[in-house]
Amino acid sequence: MDYWEPELETLPRDTLERFQARRLGQTVERALNSPWYGEAYARQGITPDDIRSVDDLRTLPFTTKDDLRAHFPYGLLCLPLRETVRLHSSSGTTGTPTVIFHNRHDLASWANLVARSMFAAGVRDTDVFQNICGYGLFTGGLGFQYGAERLGALTIPAGSGNSRRQIKLMRDYGTTVIHTIPSYLVRLRAVFDELGLDPRRDTRLRLLLIGAEPHTEATRRRVQDMFGVKAYNSYGLSEMNGPGVAFECEAQSGLHLWEDAFIPEIVDPETLGPVGPGEFGELVLTTLDREAMPIIRYRTRDLTRFIPGPCPCGRTHRRIDRIAGRSDDMFIVKGVNVFPMQIEAVLMRIPEVGHDYLIVLDRVHGLDTLVVRVEMHPESFTGDFAALEELRDRITREIRDEILVTPKVELVEPGALPKPEGKAVRVRDRRNETGAEANVTPGE
Ligand code: ADP
Ligand code: ZN
Repeated sequence: MDYWEPELETLPRDTLERFQARRLGQTVERALNSPWYGEAYARQGITPDDIRSVDDLRTLPFTTKDDLRAHFPYGLLCLPLRETVRLHSSSGTTGTPTVIFHNRHDLASWANLVARSMFAAGVRDTDVFQNICGYGLFTGGLGFQYGAERLGALTIPAGSGNSRRQIKLMRDYGTTVIHTIPSYLVRLRAVFDELGLDPRRDTRLRLLLIGAEPHTEATRRRVQDMFGVKAYNSYGLSEMNGPGVAFECEAQSGLHLWEDAFIPEIVDPETLGPVGPGEFGELVLTTLDREAMPIIRYRTRDLTRFIPGPCPCGRTHRRIDRIAGRSDDMFIVKGVNVFPMQIEAVLMRIPEVGHDYLIVLDRVHGLDTLVVRVEMHPESFTGDFAALEELRDRITREIRDEILVTPKVELVEPGALPKPEGKAVRVRDRRNETGAEANVTPGE
């Protein structure tokens, strides 16, 4: 087995935890230099001497996205601006963006983590790597760029959009590895079809790196079939640098979370206490190798669990399961809690269903309605009404069995749903929009 950093990636657990404890102490010391942590910790009488082991982390308060917003922009910065060299901010999917500052050390450490992640998924310096995502404040562009360069792959900073150009780049330079969001790969595949090309035959692709948005195992399999290569899951968030927090290795059974750089905890989102072994909860992360802006016990709002047991690859850093959703993705309809990924899981295992869907929530005469618009698979989109009706009933039943609420399923033609530029939008909640009551069938 090959590793990027053999020693660090396979450290015995007790050595790894001692290493974490040392870095945690340094992190708390640094954090005290920021206006916000400095004041909050002083108020609660917390000093670096209180932190001797990883377990002591649990005595520290959480940091939330609201804390970052309330102290925007410089409240958590620990260094003078002269020493910082870059900022990134989140894509703002769920509200006001948050901003993170880096010094040179932070950027080098981040690039190394991304290189380590890519290497674990099988990328090598002989690869041609095409990074199909936004270059700018979004961390997926520059994060993968510097990581891939650190690894030594020839890197094409393709940016997002313009699928025909993406395909041309792939064919001109013999791209072997792509990184992008899974919902985009589906669109890219459709453009291959339009051009009469098949990525399995007409490119040199050998693997895909996908991440940045929730997706199910069934979606991964579809993407793998479309391109005829394996797809590895990449997890990160801008508050923790961006990509390179957790990544699948070649075993494809969970994402190794790099524990020399982060301490992960999984807590019950209600009680905030730890969950039982192997149980799902909210991922909480602490940076261990960030100098400009350490963050301690950050509530990611992402739901996952630790996968018990060792990984066949020999890495000792624990694995998390694919993200089941964000706690704020959850919606309540007719009193039942539902995650979009539950609906996606049902849809993506039905072969007649295409690759895109939209969940529309509304309120009609004071009652919640749940409409699931489902794109059909091109091959199943025929004029056979009886078959369509049968399919619609089957989808309705299977969703009801999964979420215990009966949806109204609408089958739409392939490509009919709106395609956002960035991350996929799976839910449209019209219940709080003005005029929602009056408009029973929303026409986006
Ligand atoms: P935003 O919160 O505005 O989307 P980011 O660009 O920092 O900002 O995105 C990070 C978030 O994206 C994560 O907190 C998580 O919800 C989601 N995410 C990132 N990678 C994955 C992945 N592999 N699977 C599922 N969700 C992911
Ligand atoms: Zn592994």
